[in-house]
Amino acid sequence: MTEAEQARPIYLDYQATTPVDPRVAEAMWPYFTQAFGNPHSVHHSYGREAEDAVEAARAEVARLIGAEPREIVFTSGATESNNTAIKGAARFHGPMGKRHVVTVATEHKCVLESAKALQKDGFEVEILPVEPDGRVDLDRLAAAIRDDTAIVSVMAANNEIGVLQPLAEIGRLCRDKRVLFHSDAAQAVGKVPVDVNEMAIDLLSLSGHKLYGPKGIGALYVRRRPRARIAPLLDGGGQERTLRSGTVPAPLVVGLGEACRLANAEMTAEAERLGALRQRLWDGLRGHVPDAYVNGNWEARLPGNLNVSVPGLDAETLIAATPGVAYSTASACSSTSVEPSYVLSALGLGDRDAAASIRLGLGRMTTRAEVDRAAEAIGRTAARLRAEGAGQLADTTAG
Ligand SMILES: *Cc1c(COP(=O)(O)O)cnc(C)c1O
Repeated sequence: MTEAEQARPIYLDYQATTPVDPRVAEAMWPYFTQAFGNPHSVHHSYGREAEDAVEAARAEVARLIGAEPREIVFTSGATESNNTAIKGAARFHGPMGKRHVVTVATEHKCVLESAKALQKDGFEVEILPVEPDGRVDLDRLAAAIRDDTAIVSVMAANNEIGVLQPLAEIGRLCRDKRVLFHSDAAQAVGKVPVDVNEMAIDLLSLSGHKLYGPKGIGALYVRRRPRARIAPLLDGGGQERTLRSGTVPAPLVVGLGEACRLANAEMTAEAERLGALRQRLWDGLRGHVPDAYVNGNWEARLPGNLNVSVPGLDAETLIAATPGVAYSTASACSSTSVEPSYVLSALGLGDRDAAASIRLGLGRMTTRAEVDRAAEAIGRTAARLRAEGAGQLADTTAG
């Protein structure tokens, strides 16, 4: 192992965040220092060159999801996009008697908390369970939709287990019932094909830092035909079709656009490469801990995600004992709490199995050599801890 390799752990936490692709960083740079104009001050060349760059980026984002450029609203990230879609739809349609919201138990916290906030405002929120493989049951979803449903929100890919939801089927169902369909696609966009028309999506959230773009930038797709109507959360200058007031951060937008352009060009080959690397990682791990198992559907899954339980072994202990690899137990947002993952609970895992689960996220910069070293380090350490009787999880009848 070279000194450089020893200096930093192998990064296998691509579902928490991705590095900015160097090509993205390079594209952004001039917009901080040279072309620094306010894209809304178009009476001079500074503003106009920023505006041109923002519009070129908007077209790239749109292209990646099969949308029109004018259907893209720039936001600060998927958290804001999700809040805007869900609360915005409720605020617009609530006064017209639509006061029912449908979402799913494995959604990201920002979706569930947005729904919970609406509940406090008197909306009725229905949170659907998932099947043991992490997918929603379509019949159950169909049965949940009512005449007064304002919006259905189902994520494209889960951030912990990487499971892909059947978006096209859900979209068709929502379109038939004339109810708005929102999807949090922060993990899916740029990794697997997402097309807002093929999937009949009305509102879609995406995030720059999940697809090799910068943090602090994202987008909300808002369908024009048939028009998805939402009320804005922010009052101000009326930027972004009045849906998101505030100066558009041109350098970040340029970065998001370049990230989407690269994803468009490289996604297919990258998915194939990552799928093979993930198989290699899984095979390597299993060689050391043959009773380990994968959480969530294996086929309908992000190519770069592996979520594994090593029965009886505390994941926190395992992670602490493998400092050469950077990976995590569950979503980054809840990693400060010792609560078992609500996503794994929703799959039916008991607390003991959930506490034995690790999330390994592979991505664009992951190499085969890194995968081999990580499999060896994690697998060997797990086997050793078990042999020593260290990190054993208590046998709970609840589990
Ligand atoms: C990361 C993530 C978010 C939050 O995105 P930010 O841009 O960090 O606000 C929301 N949903 C999912 C599924 C995510 O993975």
